[in-house]
Amino acid sequence: MTTVRQEPSWRPALFGEPSGEGRVRCTLCPFRCDLAEGRTGACQVRRNHEGALETATFTAAAVHLDAVERKPFYHVRPGSRILTIASPGCTFRCDYCINHRLSQYGRADGSPWRGDPADPAALVARAAEEGAALGLSYAEPGLAPELTLALAEQAAPLGVPIVWKSNGFLTRRAIRLVAPALLAVNIDIKAADDTAHLGLTGAPLGPVLEAVELFREAGVWVEVSTPLIPGVSDDPAQLAVIARRLAAVDPGLPWHLLRFTPDFRMASAAPTPPARLRAGRDLGKEAGLHYVYVERALGEDGRTTTCPVCAKALVRRGLWSTLTNEVVSGECPGCAHPVPGCWGTDVD
Ligand code: SF4
Repeated sequence: MTTVRQEPSWRPALFGEPSGEGRVRCTLCPFRCDLAEGRTGACQVRRNHEGALETATFTAAAVHLDAVERKPFYHVRPGSRILTIASPGCTFRCDYCINHRLSQYGRADGSPWRGDPADPAALVARAAEEGAALGLSYAEPGLAPELTLALAEQAAPLGVPIVWKSNGFLTRRAIRLVAPALLAVNIDIKAADDTAHLGLTGAPLGPVLEAVELFREAGVWVEVSTPLIPGVSDDPAQLAVIARRLAAVDPGLPWHLLRFTPDFRMASAAPTPPARLRAGRDLGKEAGLHYVYVERALGEDGRTTTCPVCAKALVRRGLWSTLTNEVVSGECPGCAHPVPGCWGTDVD
C-alpha cells in the first residue's frame, strides 16, 4: 500500500532573488512576495528557507488519465488522452473552486497537504505507454515551473507533449522560461475588469490578459475558459467585454464558457441556467469569435467545431470525447479554410 505524505517536501526553487537581510523575493507570479526567513508566500507552496527560495510543488498529488476534452482543449489533438498531474497550491482563492482541497492548501480549512514527491521519469514513461500527453491541472500549474521543466526534459525525446490548465497569473519572466516546455495552455479569464476579478480571485486581471498574448507570442497554443457564475460573472455586458477583447487578439482563439457547478464556499448557489450560457455563446459569436463552446447545458450543438466560412461541422463531440473529426491537415475539407489548433503533434 502506498502512503501519501502528510507534509510538503521542499526543494530548491527557480525565481528567487536575494532582497537583503536574508530576505528573498519570489518573481514567479505578479504578487512578487518579499519573504523574510521562514516565511511562506501567499500561495503557501513557496518559502524562504535559510535565505533561498524553496518550493513544495515538485509533487504529484493526483495522477489521472483524462480525455483532452476535459481540460478543456477542443483544438488540441481531438480524441486523445492526457495523463493529468496536480501539484497542490494556487495564487487565487476562488470561492467556487471545485478542486479547493488541492488548490487551497494552507489557505482554507479542510485542505490538508496531499501528495508525494513527483518522479518525472516515471510520469513521462507512463504517459508514453498510454500514448497520452502530460497535463498539469486541478490546482495551479504555474506554481510548478520546476516540475514542468523536469517533465519536459524527459518528455521531449519521447515526443510526449505537455499542457497546462492555468490561471495565467505569472510574471513575464516566468512565462518566457516555461513556454518552450508547453504545447498548449488553457487560461481562465474569470472577469472583464480588475474590480470583478479581484473580488472573485483576490488577484488583478491585467497579468492574466497579458499571459494570453505572451504565451501566444511564444508559440504556445492558447484556449480560454470563462466560468459563468450566476449573479457574479454571467452578466452579458461583462461577457461581451471579454469576448471583444479575445476577438481583438485573434478571432480563431477558442473560448469555452463553463457551466458553474455549486461547490466550496458557493455550495448552495444555483448552477448556471442554460439560457445564460446560450446568450454568452451568442455574444462571443457577435464579437467575432469563430469558436465558442459550452461543454454542458447546450447539448452537442455547444461542443461542435463548425467551419466559420462554409458552416461544415468539423469536429463533433460527446460530453467528454470526440465523436468525429473531419479536419484534414489543419483545414476544413469543405472549403480548405484553415482551422487553427494542434491537430497532429505540432501547432498547425
Ligand atoms: S508564486 Fe507564491 S511566493 Fe511566489 S510571488 Fe507568487 S504568491 Fe508569492
